[in-house]
This record gives sequence, structure tokens and C-alpha cells, in this order.
Amino acid sequence: MSSLPETALAIADAVRSGAISARAVAERTLARIEAKNPELNAFVTVAKEELLAGADAVDAKRARGEPLGLLAGVPVALKDALCTRNLRTTCGSKMLGAYVPPYDATVVTRLRAADALVPGKTNMDEFAMGSSNESSAFGPAKNPHDPSRIPGGSSGGSAVAVAAGLAPVALGSDTGGSIRQPAALTGTVGVKPTYGRVSRFGLVAFASSLDQIGPFATDVRSAARVLAVIAGPDPRDATSAAAEVPEFEAACGRSVSGLRLGVPDEYFAEGLDPAVEASVRAAILRLEEDGCTVKRVSLPHTRHAVATYYVLATAEASSNLARFDGVRYGLRVGGESRGTGTASALRAMYGATRDAGFGAEVKRRILLGTFVLSAGYYDAYYAKAQKVRALVRRDFDRTFAEVDAIVCPTSPTPAFRLGEKTADPLAMYLSDVYTLPASLAGLPAASVPCEPVTFAGAAGALPVGLQIIAPAFREDTVLSLAAAAYPS
Ligand code: GLN
Repeated sequence: MSSLPETALAIADAVRSGAISARAVAERTLARIEAKNPELNAFVTVAKEELLAGADAVDAKRARGEPLGLLAGVPVALKDALCTRNLRTTCGSKMLGAYVPPYDATVVTRLRAADALVPGKTNMDEFAMGSSNESSAFGPAKNPHDPSRIPGGSSGGSAVAVAAGLAPVALGSDTGGSIRQPAALTGTVGVKPTYGRVSRFGLVAFASSLDQIGPFATDVRSAARVLAVIAGPDPRDATSAAAEVPEFEAACGRSVSGLRLGVPDEYFAEGLDPAVEASVRAAILRLEEDGCTVKRVSLPHTRHAVATYYVLATAEASSNLARFDGVRYGLRVGGESRGTGTASALRAMYGATRDAGFGAEVKRRILLGTFVLSAGYYDAYYAKAQKVRALVRRDFDRTFAEVDAIVCPTSPTPAFRLGEKTADPLAMYLSDVYTLPASLAGLPAASVPCEPVTFAGAAGALPVGLQIIAPAFREDTVLSLAAAAYPS
């Protein structure tokens, strides 16, 4: 078993050449999940039969002499916000605890077309609202570097699956940092593509003007390959962009010499852990040694990003989550008198369903979002936040006239302890301070591991992430720099 390759690229190459079988990879995956998932809680649903059947189908295809796809035999763990045909999709919520979609998300269709395998669905903050995976209805996933600590969120389970070797790659979704922050805290590679680069058809919507799907991987090239498979326009998602998809894998081998990097003052400010800062600055120095030029830049509206995001994202969430009413999807509580009932009985059913189905954080966000959209407050909050979002975007536009990419920390701190911030939503929201601006501006960004740091009280060294942000549709620049910063 130990002779099987670990990275997605190496697995695909070996399966395609016939050096190993997809069945052997699938069996190893299941054995690891069985051994480690009880402690780490990365998967909420393990698709054992589907995984084995999928692996056998790939091996049979090869035996027939048919060409295999770019991810042949590669298990791709899927965040449980992505709809999977005939496989339970909970979004980390009791509301969808028994929901089995009749269709695949476009990204899942594309993975299957590339001969990838689905080992199961990963744990996440409820409806992707959170930074620690602690709002999941299934309990938190644990950080494999120290199981008393959070793995980040909301795509915590996907990050843990990759970090612990349960799957070589995974998909997550990132609305305000939910791929990059857990990647940073678990020592994995995470890429949030440009808004519009990847179809969201079949992703349970949180904040539609921000949501993007992207990969986690052990190495940058594997992330690039997964991104290449899932990217590109989709007639089923009107926000998916027509922009041509560059050669992402080739970008990983490109020299970064001569690239101009901006280091924003606002990302090295109060609240940044000094050990994280030292690790990130050392990573930037290494990029300089590779021939990049480095200069200080300023993104002055960064300080408004947290407030802006939490107005806009909650407003959009309150609208998107209105569909969970006990009628159309998922859970229903009460309403037995349906058909003969009165309007007040119907309203009681809506209320009972939403009260039982949503957890505290989701309720808080629906209330906040409803408030900022309500007559009399709309201009003061929602309309104002839209304007500030434009200013945040303009900061980046101005800066990208001078530099090719921005480099900074992904998260101000390493993984914190389970329970440390659950009683203080504002402290939790502040852990997104460095990931939210690129989301508001719709820009591509990645987190790659830099030197781990040792903290008093931590079981071992804790991972730190370097964030790389580039202009829209320049994932190729992000990937070139990511591969240089984190060679494999
Ligand atoms: N942590 C942020 C939030 O709670 C971002 C979540 C996400 O990107 N899905 O909203």
C-alpha cells in the first residue's frame, strides 16, 4: 500500500499508464478514512460503494484500451455544499440532513468526465458560514497538526482530508476565505479562482456575488490540474465567464523572475501574530531571491472589508436561504394539517422548520441580512456597503497598475483552539480580515504553506499560509508564484 503515489498528478499518471490500479488507490483511501476519520471528522458521508464501483469502471475502461482522463483514479473529496447525484448533500446543516440531490454540480460532472473518483462529502461550517468548522451540524473537523485546534473554515473537512492524506485533492468553496484560510491553517495548497472562472451550478448558494469553487491539494501542480478540469464557461451558470482558460499546469513551471510583487502595509498590521509575520516575510524574501522585485503598497480600504463583507454576505444569505421553508427542500417540522390548514398553520410550519433546521450562526446571519435590507436601513447599510466594495476593488485596480501580484499572510494567526472564539462572533469574523478583500474584488488568490511555526502550548509546529493575489483571470500568475514559493 505504501508504494502507491501520494499526489493527484502522480496517481493520475500511474493509473493512466497502468502502473497501478484505480481500485488499489480507492482501497487505500477507504482504509485511511476508516483509520483517521473517527478522530478528525473530515468526512460526513463516505461513499464506499460508489468509490469502489467508480474505481473498477476506470480500470475496466483502461483494460478496454480507452484513453483515460486527466484525473484518472484520483479521489477528490467534495465539500458537502456541492450537489452530488444520489449522494446525500447536507451543507453542514440539519436543514438538509437527509437531502439527496437528483443531479450533480457542474464541477462534479467535469471531475467525473476526467475519470476522477468521489470518496465522499466533507464537513463544513453550516451553509459555509464560519471560519472554524465549528458551526457544522455534524460537529467540528479537527486539525491533524493538533486535534485540539480548529482546521479553519468553512471548507474545514476538505482541508483536513487533504492534510491528513485521506484524499490527495478536494474541492471547497470560498465566499470570503473558506478555501484559503483552512488551507493556511492545515498546511495545504488552496486556490480561490476569479469570480466567474468556475461554474457554481449545483453549489448550495451562500452569497451569490462572492461564492467560488476551487481546489485543495498537497502540491501546487495538482491544484492546477484540478482547476483546469473544473474551469470554464457553463451555460447553466449565467455568472460563469467566457474568458479563455489558460494552461494552468504549464504556469506552474514558469519562471517568476521579473515579476513585481506588492506587499501591502495594511496586511501586516495590528492583530498579526509575530511568528506568522516572520514566516510570511521569509517566504517573500525567497521569492525575491528567485528574481521577483518587491515593493510596499497600500490598500487603504482594507480596514472596511470586514464590515462591508458582513453586510453584503448576510444580505445575500438572507435572500438565498429563504428557499429553506419546509416546502421545497429538506427538513419539514409541523404542517401536518397541510391541505386543510389555514395560513397561520402554514406560517407556523415555516417557523418551526426554520427554527429546528438552522443553527445559531445561520440564524444570526439571516437576522443581520434581513435587517440591512429592510426599508429604512437599506441605504445606510446595504447601499453603503456596495459603495465601499467598489472602493476596495479600486484599491486593487490602482495597485495592479504597478505590480503583478500581491503577497501577504492568509490568516493573522495560526489555528486556534476549538471553542476559543465560538462565544465571540466578532473575533471569529476578524479571522477573515486578510481573505475578504480579494473576495469583495472577485480576484483569484491562493494560499500556500510557508515555514511552520512553533507556539507555546501547541502539540507541534503549526502551519502558516502565504497568500498570493493577482488581477482577475490571472490564476496563471497566482500559480507560477505559488509553485515557486512552494516547490514540490
Ligand atoms: N468565514 C467567512 C464567513 O464566515 C467566509 C466563509 C466562506 O468563505 N464561505 O462568512
